[in-house]
Amino acid sequence: MTQHQTESRLEELKPCPFCGSPASLVGETYDGPADCWETHGSCDSCGANGPTILREHGDDQTACCAEAREEWNKRANADATEEVRATLNWYAEQTEGCRKLGSIGDPFRQALYKDGGQRARAVLALYINSRAVEEDESNPP
Ligand SMILES: [Zn+2]
Repeated sequence: MTQHQTESRLEELKPCPFCGSPASLVGETYDGPADCWETHGSCDSCGANGPTILREHGDDQTACCAEAREEWNKRANADATEEVRATLNWYAEQTEGCRKLGSIGDPFRQALYKDGGQRARAVLALYINSRAVEEDESNPP
């Protein structure tokens, strides 16, 4: 089994829905009796993987990569909204916790201080990015 990068980042893979890092298409070739290969989107940072597209060696590799990219991007889109929701809930929970007096509220205050809006900026970038790609697809040049 050989693992190799089949395509560069220029191939319009959306950022990872979990951490917002760039993603790549990764392909694996199986030799021997199985004689097929698979491609999936994979986060460069946290290792999250998209659905695996499995094809026989004789099939068109470009089509397989396109399908893997489409699957990864679908998930990035669906999860962007979920991520925004989860992030807003996180802020709501921390804010609620901050109202608790004394040491009970301290961890919440510390969490917000440490975050400093980082989560909000990350999820906003992810959301805007997924929207931008959606608009590109609905308005072909
Ligand atoms: Zn990631």
